[in-house]
Amino acid sequence: MTRRSFLGTLALTSVAPRWSAQVRGRRVNIGSLIGRITNVKLYGAERPWAGANRVAYSDADVEARGYVMRLMTAAGVQPRIDAAGNIFGRRPGSDPSLAPILFGSHIDSVPNGGAFDGTLGALAALGVIEDCDFEGIGTRHPLEMVIWAHSEHVAFNRGLAGSRIAAGDVAPSDFDEVWNGMRRADAIRKIGGDPDRITEASIRPGSVHCYLELHVEQGPVLERLDVPIGVVEGIVGVDRHHVSIAGVSRPAGSTPMDERRDALVAASHLTIAVRDAVVRAAAAVTGTVDRLDMEPNAPGMVPGTVRLTIDLRGMSDAPLRAIAADIAGRAAAIATGTGTSITIAEPSRSAPVATTDALREAIERAAASLRLKTAPLASGLPHDAQRIARLAPMGMIFVPSAGGVTHAPDEQTSPMLCSYGADVLLRTVLDVDRSLPDRLGGPAGAEA
Ligand SMILES: [Zn+2]
Repeated sequence: MTRRSFLGTLALTSVAPRWSAQVRGRRVNIGSLIGRITNVKLYGAERPWAGANRVAYSDADVEARGYVMRLMTAAGVQPRIDAAGNIFGRRPGSDPSLAPILFGSHIDSVPNGGAFDGTLGALAALGVIEDCDFEGIGTRHPLEMVIWAHSEHVAFNRGLAGSRIAAGDVAPSDFDEVWNGMRRADAIRKIGGDPDRITEASIRPGSVHCYLELHVEQGPVLERLDVPIGVVEGIVGVDRHHVSIAGVSRPAGSTPMDERRDALVAASHLTIAVRDAVVRAAAAVTGTVDRLDMEPNAPGMVPGTVRLTIDLRGMSDAPLRAIAADIAGRAAAIATGTGTSITIAEPSRSAPVATTDALREAIERAAASLRLKTAPLASGLPHDAQRIARLAPMGMIFVPSAGGVTHAPDEQTSPMLCSYGADVLLRTVLDVDRSLPDRLGGPAGAEA
């Protein structure tokens, strides 16, 4: 052993007891957390082992919200429902002039969904406040938990609805929409909101110190890396390219193979071309042909027309545009080769949303204090956090999803990993109470 490494060992030994005394507490109660996640799942589930069924505004959603609000009340956190139906609960800080640290997620689900999507982050938020009370930890900023209403993209063919309203993105006509025989205004009333005062639900930019969300990854990357904590770099941008392919429909039996202008054959080549273009770019981009309609779609007829959609996702614009240009070049060659014409319209875009550097660093420090490995990754799916990034600095913590399974009854994150995620959330909250400048201002990232 060299002198230097010997001294290093000594230093570590003498520091270790103090370090462990510091961190022995500051753990979210994992027994409560797992029990509550299980209880929430039982609302609306047909059988205890069946999938979660709490579509926003359903009776089960209302009952599960009531359960969580009773937990909040029991913990001394007075629940407040805003005009959009979002649930907030605040623990005061020592300096009343400071803006709150906001953290949470959602508890509505897709039909036949999983137990952990949203619910983990929502209930871990309550666990963070309870642990601060239990440990007698005071914070300078108020701590405010939030359960966003109507996050999943099911009801009214919308998602992230509660956080969207909080971010000020709302039009009066939205509330006349009808879904499942229910007007949206009445749906919001059903969960305790007030559509007549909806503008009161918008949060003023700068009035939140920062926003943090713990969520399951909903993909396989962390598990494959064998890393318990994902530090989210941002939420990907999505470009949707609508494509129409015009060939000629003729009877299959009387049209020789060399005289066909088959739109589906062209679409098939194009689907492979999308995959090849994305793989060749070797960028952090995904590309998918996710929708396809064809005409006449009839027995015995060569397909004459295909309309399809290409979904490209990534964290930065340049590779998305380069891949789109590559696909356009390949499409022109496919059109020539198949005797069809292929038109690709200007894409509809939603811009990527980056998380805030200072919050990623705080999440890294929190994980390091628990000796947990981290990996940076982008979220390929939308989250309420991307709406709140318009208002405040934003950070997200991911924990692994077993097999990458999500929105399904066998969605699974082990109690140990849930515990790690909740503890990292707790320590990040305590870190940013001190480390983040009080008037950081500015939202995390713009969104189109
Ligand atoms: Zn979710």
